[in-house]
Amino acid sequence: ISSAHMRTTVKEFGAELLAKSRLLYELQGALAGDIRHGALVAHYQPQVNYAEGRLIGMEALVRWQHPARGLVSPGSFIAVAESSDKIYQVDLQVLEHVCRDMRAWLDAGLPDLPVSLNFSRRSLLHPDVIGDLQRLLTLYGIPGRLLEFEVTESLLVETPELLSPRVAEFRAMGIRIAIDDFGTGYSNLDAINSFSFDRLKVDRQFVHGVASNKRVAGLFRLIQGIAEVFDVELVCEGLELEEDRAWLAERGSHCVQGWYFSPARTPRDIAAILAAVKARGADAPPLSLDEL
Ligand code: C2E
Ligand code: MG
Ligand code: MG
Ligand code: MG
Repeated sequence: ISSAHMRTTVKEFGAELLAKSRLLYELQGALAGDIRHGALVAHYQPQVNYAEGRLIGMEALVRWQHPARGLVSPGSFIAVAESSDKIYQVDLQVLEHVCRDMRAWLDAGLPDLPVSLNFSRRSLLHPDVIGDLQRLLTLYGIPGRLLEFEVTESLLVETPELLSPRVAEFRAMGIRIAIDDFGTGYSNLDAINSFSFDRLKVDRQFVHGVASNKRVAGLFRLIQGIAEVFDVELVCEGLELEEDRAWLAERGSHCVQGWYFSPARTPRDIAAILAAVKARGADAPPLSLDEL
């Protein structure tokens, strides 16, 4: 390596570090405020059972209302937050948003659908998490059965001895557990076998193009088989195409989440969707796409 090359490499590395520390600094500021005036907000992506034409729940996805950059998606700051303790504050703020939004929906007499949250490894293992959870659930009067924590597959393999007792505590509070992004981690069947969970979320990679790509289809069927063995519900992430939806439906897989139905929506939009669901009543025909 030439010294000139070395200099540019060091310079680029320095610039990256600087950008990262600036982001962390700004995130610190965003996290300092009250959640009511918070810079972090939760948006919600509907999950649908297509066969039954029912809304079955939604996933909370954090967004950062940045004064200069606008609405920032988690892809650009979660990884940075995960490298520090900030991630716990992020996840806790999202949890509080979810509890507060659910309280508002329940007070308005809207249907009580479960909400899934993404909890990072540090957050799941944080010493205060059980206490903070109990405090927020009590404060907002939210039953644990209305929450689900999404745990990525790789986490199960990395720290099973720490994670299992923690997950048992969550489940004792009625909180459901989903394995997120399934198929992209280690897919270690032994680790999955010794773990208690309620739902399996197939990563978008094994959903998108399933109707047209033989290999994707084969991998999807493998994952579907795993969900059958564990007797858990399969949720297909990232459904975008009608042909993929039809292919999945033919194979009895109906629980989907994706832009085909809806992107993540603001709490206000979700309230309107819940009101529409309520107005339809029990014998209503299946949900139509334009209701979502
Ligand atoms: P994830 O948990 O796998 O969430 C699904 C991501 O896929 C979301 O991106 C969602 O907007 C996107 N998505 C949904 N439907 C489609 C589709 O049909 N096509 C495509 N191409 N994408 C779709 P988002 O909101 O940018 O979130 C990215 C990731 O950030 C999440 O992946 C999750 O791992 C993480 N994340 C989000 N919110 C939180 C949070 O509150 N705490 C933590 N720790 N992580 C979070
Ligand atoms: Mg998720
Ligand atoms: Mg996912
Ligand atoms: Mg994903």
